[in-house]
Amino acid sequence: MTGGSKATNGQMGRAAGMIRNATAQAMNRTRLQDLELSHVKKYKCVSLVSPTTCVDCDALDGQVFNVEDVEEGVSFPLMHYNCQCIVIEVNDNDDWDTS
Ligand SMILES: [Zn+2]
Repeated sequence: MTGGSKATNGQMGRAAGMIRNATAQAMNRTRLQDLELSHVKKYKCVSLVSPTTCVDCDALDGQVFNVEDVEEGVSFPLMHYNCQCIVIEVNDNDDWDTS
């Protein structure tokens, strides 16, 4: 993947990005399985609000979706390569969150 000993920093950077991406994707998919197993009906997208956050992820931040309507890349992260968004479960009993 990195070209062995001839790997450049760019190649290593891309490799690290791929690993980061795969890890984030696995984390979110595991989270989704947890939500389904726990019979959670809704989840909220939380994006990393930073200067490098893209418009799509920025718009997604705080949005609530039904677990049964989940569509990765549309209503469930990862939205794109290097996306750092996560999801959290939403309970109807959560009245402390007014966002
Ligand atoms: Zn994102």
